[in-house]
Amino acid sequence: MNHILDISSDELKLWLTTCEQPGYRAAQIQKWLFHNRADSFESMSNLPNQLKQALSKDLAIWTSKIVKHQSSSDGTEKLLLELHDGGRIECVLLRDGHRRTICISTQVGCAMGCVFCASGLDGVDRNLTTGEIIEQSLKLQSLLPDSERLSHVVVMGMGEPLANLDQLLPALDTISSEDGLGISARRITISTVGLPKAMDRLSDIQTRYHLAVSLHAPNDPLRNQLVPVNDNIGIKAILSAADRYFDTSGRRLTYEYVLLGDVNDGEKHAQELVNLLRHRNALLNVIPYNPVDGLPYKTPSRNRVARFKSVLEAGNITIRFRQRKGDDINAACGQLRRNEVVQIDMPNG
Ligand code: SAH
Repeated sequence: MNHILDISSDELKLWLTTCEQPGYRAAQIQKWLFHNRADSFESMSNLPNQLKQALSKDLAIWTSKIVKHQSSSDGTEKLLLELHDGGRIECVLLRDGHRRTICISTQVGCAMGCVFCASGLDGVDRNLTTGEIIEQSLKLQSLLPDSERLSHVVVMGMGEPLANLDQLLPALDTISSEDGLGISARRITISTVGLPKAMDRLSDIQTRYHLAVSLHAPNDPLRNQLVPVNDNIGIKAILSAADRYFDTSGRRLTYEYVLLGDVNDGEKHAQELVNLLRHRNALLNVIPYNPVDGLPYKTPSRNRVARFKSVLEAGNITIRFRQRKGDDINAACGQLRRNEVVQIDMPNG
C-alpha cells in the first residue's frame, strides 16, 4: 500500500481526480494530517464517506509502530519505531523553555563508522523513505498537547542525512511548508559528517536550512581515526564546501566537536581549531562525549574542558556547549541505535 506521506501534493491531487474528487480535497487531507493530528482517514469528518473509504483502501497514514516510548526526567521523550520491514529506528522530542525540538533519523543504522557513536555500530541497513522521515515528525508531534506546536527540527538522529538527500529534501519541504508542519527552514538543522559533493548540492539548490558539520578533530590524521570516512575526503575539502554553503545561504555554519577525554581535548587541539576557524563565520558546538555501552571513550574532566574552552575563547571563536539531554534514557547525541540494548544480568558466583 502507498504511504500518503510519501506522495507529493500534486500526486495526491492526481489520485483524487482518479476518484473523481476535486483537487481542494488534497489541502483538506493535509490539514487533517499535519494540523489536526488525525490518525485515521475515518476521523477526517469533512470528507465524503466514499472518499474516506477509497483513501483507506489505497493509502496508509502509518507504516511504522511504536515499540518503545521512554520519558526522561528532563522532559525528553524517545520513541523506538519498528518499520514495515522490521527495521528499527529511534527519534526524540526535546523540551527546552518554549522550544519543542525533534531529532529525527534518516537511515536504519549508519555507514560512516564514527568510532564514538552508537548509531553506526552495526553499519547501515537502508535509507528511510520520505514518508518514514515525515512520519517520525508526526508521531513526535502527537506527544505534545494540542496547545503546543513543534518549533525546531534537528536532523541529527541515526544515519548520515547527506547520504540520503533524495528522500530527505522532499520530507523537509513538507515539514517546512505552510501546508505541512510549517516549521521554517531557519529552524531546521541538518547535521552532516561532511560530504562535500552533497553539501555543494545544497548550495546549488539554495536551501536555507542551517548546516552543522561534525568536525571532531582539527587535523586529518586524528580525524581519519575518529571519523573513518574522512580518509577519502579531508578537512580542507569539507571546509571549502562549508564556505560555499555560507556564501550562497548566508547562514552561519555550526561545527560540532565531540570532546573525547585524552583523545581530542588537548590545548594543542584547541589551538589548531582556532587556526582552522578563526577567519570563518562559524559557531563551534562542543559536545562532551555521551557514554555509549561497550565503547572505550570517556567524557573529559571538567578541568580539561575548561582549558579547551579558554584557548578557543582567547582565539575569538564563538563556542557553545551542547546541553546534554535525555541521557538517562540513552536519547542524547550519539546514543541512538537500531535496537534496544539488551541488559544481561550475570548470575553472581
Ligand atoms: N551523521 C550526522 C548526524 C548524526 S550525529 C553527523 O555526523 O553529523 C549528531 C551529532 O552527535 C554528531 O555531531 C555526532 O558526531 C554526535 N555524536 C555521535 N556520537 C556521540 C557521542 N557518543 N557523544 C556525543 N556526541 C556524539
